Amino acid sequence: MIGKKRLREIEPAAAGLKALYSPKTAIIDFSKVVQAYANVIKSLGGEILLSQEVKQIEYSNTHFILNTKKVTITTKFLINCAGVHADKIANMIDRAVSAKQIIPFQGEYYDLVHEKISLINGLIYPVNGKMCDDFAIVQKKGMVHVLNAPSPGAMAPFSIGKHIASLYNQMV
Ligand SMILES: Cc1cc2nc3c(=O)[nH]c(=O)nc-3n(C[C@H](O)[C@H](O)[C@H](O)COP(=O)(O)OP(=O)(O)OC[C@H]3O[C@@H](n4cnc5c(N)ncnc54)[C@H](O)[C@@H]3O)c2cc1C
Repeated sequence: MIGKKRLREIEPAAAGLKALYSPKTAIIDFSKVVQAYANVIKSLGGEILLSQEVKQIEYSNTHFILNTKKVTITTKFLINCAGVHADKIANMIDRAVSAKQIIPFQGEYYDLVHEKISLINGLIYPVNGKMCDDFAIVQKKGMVHVLNAPSPGAMAPFSIGKHIASLYNQMV
């Protein structure tokens, strides 16, 4: 977190009371990043099931039973990372969790015209409201629900992943 003065040093053309400074933020090809994650998961023996929408979840004593149109998956632990649909998945198993409803909103991005490009040095995002309204991780018996709107999901996946893994380790 930086104040007004430091913000002016980094981005002279920007004005604000406070800012979150992320020096490593950059524009990347996210599909290549996701493909790299998939390769790591597979190389560690993991399996990725594509085009298999979870339609229903049941809880049976100690196990969750997930039903897609094609398969039924039985698991002792459930980590719900369904992005903007995470509240719908939560709703299938626990209405109390889905009380945290995800409300999509439209964001707007601007590109500076070429002559003005020297005005800024990096990416600038407005931050308003309470950050916790943007992101919530809810842990329940045998379950972790990652409930997020467009948020730091792509920017901080390793930190978020480590936190989710630590919650999983507490459950096993
Ligand atoms: C237009 C836009 C621009 C963005 N720009 C940025 C940015 O610049 N920087 C940044 O850090 N973040 C950005 N974000 C946010 C970022 O994309 C999300 O935070 C991130 O993708 C969240 O990751 P996730 O894995 O939690 O969810 P997602 O990436 O949304 O993945 C959820 C997955 O769950 C699957 N799924 C959903 N429902 C079901 C179901 N019933 N059964 C099975 N699978 C299901 C979906 O198909 C999807 O593959 C942007 C988002 C949008 C929409």
